[in-house]
Amino acid sequence: MPGSGLRPGLLPAGEDFGQYNVLLIDTRVPKAVHKLVFGILAAFSLALCAGPLPAAERQAVRIGVLAYSGSEVALANWSHVTDYLNQTLPAYRFSLELYDIAALASAVADQRVGFVITNGGQYVALEAQYGLSRIATLESPEAVSPDRAIGSAVIARADRSDLNTLADLKGRRVAAVSPEAFGGYLVAVRELKRLGIDPESDLARTDFLGLPMQRIVQAVSNGSVDAGIVRACLLESMARSGALRLADFKVLSPRRIEGFRCGLSTDLYPDWPIATARHADRGLAKAVATALLSMPPTSQGYSWSVPADYQSVHELYRELQTGPYAYLRETTLEGLVRRYWPYLVIGFVVLLGWMVHAVRVEHLVRVRTAELHRALTARYEAESRMREQQEQAEHLSRLSILGELSGTLAHELNQPLATISNYAQSLLRRQAAGRLTPEAVQEAGTSITAQAERAGGIMQRIRDFARKRPAVHERLALADLAREAVALFGGMLANAPPVALDSRLTPGAEVEADALQIQQVMLNLLKNADDATKGLPEERRRIELILSREGAWYRVSVRDRGPGLPVALRARLFEAFFTTKPDGMGLGLSICKTIVEAHGGRLRAETNADGQGLTFTFTLPAHETAA
Ligand code: ADP
Repeated sequence: MPGSGLRPGLLPAGEDFGQYNVLLIDTRVPKAVHKLVFGILAAFSLALCAGPLPAAERQAVRIGVLAYSGSEVALANWSHVTDYLNQTLPAYRFSLELYDIAALASAVADQRVGFVITNGGQYVALEAQYGLSRIATLESPEAVSPDRAIGSAVIARADRSDLNTLADLKGRRVAAVSPEAFGGYLVAVRELKRLGIDPESDLARTDFLGLPMQRIVQAVSNGSVDAGIVRACLLESMARSGALRLADFKVLSPRRIEGFRCGLSTDLYPDWPIATARHADRGLAKAVATALLSMPPTSQGYSWSVPADYQSVHELYRELQTGPYAYLRETTLEGLVRRYWPYLVIGFVVLLGWMVHAVRVEHLVRVRTAELHRALTARYEAESRMREQQEQAEHLSRLSILGELSGTLAHELNQPLATISNYAQSLLRRQAAGRLTPEAVQEAGTSITAQAERAGGIMQRIRDFARKRPAVHERLALADLAREAVALFGGMLANAPPVALDSRLTPGAEVEADALQIQQVMLNLLKNADDATKGLPEERRRIELILSREGAWYRVSVRDRGPGLPVALRARLFEAFFTTKPDGMGLGLSICKTIVEAHGGRLRAETNADGQGLTFTFTLPAHETAA
């Protein structure tokens, strides 16, 4: 930055390269000597310009100036400002304070200066950091306009035929002022980056030679670097002063801009502004601005115009992520926050929304789970109550069947018991008569054992049937179930009607069922058929039990030749407590229907095809085992 604003027109006429060298040496003398010299000069100029007020009564106003090229040049460049202001605003005593870039920034920070004159680059940085505001911009004779005044020339020796454009700088040694220099570095860096060249990695090296900028021209000239970055118009100014021959140098990627007469490799940026510090008196700032805007051009043609637009400088800094936009490079948390805060805000809002949603969903899930749990518990309780009632009803039904059959049960048991008794008596009689042979004992013993087993079998079946227990589903051969039911039916009744079991099933036909429940259904249907045919001629008392298959279903049909049932009553057959018998409970068929449906089947009643008697048929899902 320091080199960008060197005003060639303000340089003393007739300076040559040697004189720059003198200046160069001059910058190395101790600061104390500088101060002494400047103090004398300042006092001298004050004495010359003192207005009507005595110096002690005039309010001191310090103007901080960036002395990019040594104090003498700065004084020569900018004393026209203090001269003019002291003349037009006699109540104040304006003085120039000369600083390098860092010292000027701390002078602004410490409020040691009321006004600042610096290049556009540093102005933008100080504006962002300390709230400086520009009140006027320099208008130079060599600028296109105050908005387009400062640029860079990237120079090489004229005899370097290998260097013609900025793209040729790849892998070369380049000299510049400093990494922060505006016209002496950053302006050119922006152009290089636009070409895809990163000065930090694509150049062989960059030598930062500091100020004055003539050092860079010297380095290019003596070949210690391949190219140099200087502010535009420096070469021309040096040529005018006889320090060099323009023909010895060339400007890389030269641009022709109308109204701009110097060699240029880059865009043009606004000229130097004068800015007021945040703490400065507003009235004074207004007076200074008014004075400068009405200042007539100096003999070299410099004047002040309304403040220029420094947006293009902002854009440069932003693009290079430096100066006030250095935070764009930072990967610290603060840098990232400053850079991505809109995204962070959006992310935070989204996260917050998601959290609210998640909490809400979790709450709803908990509420619904509790509801579901309550409902399931209630349903389970209702179902287990129903199951208990069902089991109770089935048990009652079985006891009722037994009750109805009990009269004949006694008779049934009497038979084996009477036979046993007969054999026992016959043995006793033979023994008394002395005719007890081993054969007779053998025969009686065998028969007694067989009859006792028969009686035991009857008792066992009845006990099993009457037992109250939960349903158990297992794979069972349907034909065996039917046979046992027929045997139980025959065993229970004294006068059991003949039951013809007609199994049309294959041997492996099985059902997944509760044996007792299915037998209960069969017994119920057989007993109803028996009831319906009681008192009828023998040929009509025959009951058929038919087992058949229909697709995925087995069918169990009980057919009688009884009187049947009027159609009007048939609709009520399966209703609980529907009975036409004086001592009936009307529960049998309704329980049968429940049992069959619990096994996945259906129970129905049909009038026989010949109109005589009813056929009750129930279905069960078919299973088959490999024979
Ligand atoms: P219950 O035998 O105690 O009356 P069920 O539910 O077993 O109870 O039978 C209900 C009614 O259905 C019987 O009262 C009877 O009127 C009629 N019923 C049942 N089976 C037959 C049948 N095979 N023939 C004629 N009517 C029948």
